[in-house]
Amino acid sequence: MSLLEVSGVSVSFDGFKAINNLSFQIGDAEMRAVIGPNGAGKTTFMDIITGKTRPDEGRVIWGEKSKSLLSMSEAQIAREGIGRKFQKPTVFEDQTVHANLLMALKNERGPLSVLFWKPKPDDLARVEALASEIALSDQLARKAGELSHGQKQWLEIGMLLAQDPKLLLVDEPAAGMTPSEREHTTSILVEAAKTRAVVVVEHDMEFIRRLNCRVTVLHEGSVLAEGSLDHVTSDPRVIDVYLGR
Ligand code: ADP
Repeated sequence: MSLLEVSGVSVSFDGFKAINNLSFQIGDAEMRAVIGPNGAGKTTFMDIITGKTRPDEGRVIWGEKSKSLLSMSEAQIAREGIGRKFQKPTVFEDQTVHANLLMALKNERGPLSVLFWKPKPDDLARVEALASEIALSDQLARKAGELSHGQKQWLEIGMLLAQDPKLLLVDEPAAGMTPSEREHTTSILVEAAKTRAVVVVEHDMEFIRRLNCRVTVLHEGSVLAEGSLDHVTSDPRVIDVYLGR
């Protein structure tokens, strides 16, 4: 059974069809890479899932209870367990790594927690566990603003994981990273996908190869090809519109 099922979705901007009859499914604990040339509709597709953009037609069905995400606000969709990481990391730069992770845990408890929540030993243990998952255990006392670009990206992933999403959408996680940072990002995402679905939008083919997952190729707002990386990269249509450029 699918965790998320998108079917026949279309969106136009001023008469231009950015998403055209797109269908997509992902299951629990599945990793998926989404690739495609600039303008293929990758961002708009993520915006539809998170409720930022409403499709003109089609269905977006979520979870065991087959709820429609189209009738939910962005905040409700986030509460359903869909987390999104944009390309630019947004962490609290003047706070420590520990405080950033703790704040993310606090958010997970709902708005009242801002007033009443005090971290319990369990929460502190969870912060330590998250820090270890994102390889920042030795950086807990550092201000987030002092971290490298890669470390900030991991911290933001950790903050999303603190909210325990069922589906994590990640936009170009490897951009601007050193090869060793990229390798480590792969491990974080592969580990995260053991217990939740992860969709990664990425251009870096070596990075995608290491994710070792099914790949969906978008072109002109539709799915052009889907399958293993070797399958899609040997498809002449994919070579023509994306790889051959
Ligand atoms: P990608 O992320 O694959 O580069 P996008 O989803 O950003 O593609 O864009 C798909 C197409 O939709 C592009 O042609 C883009 O110019 C257009 N588009 C996206 N958002 C808007 C918008 N808000 N208004 C008008 N056109 C848009």
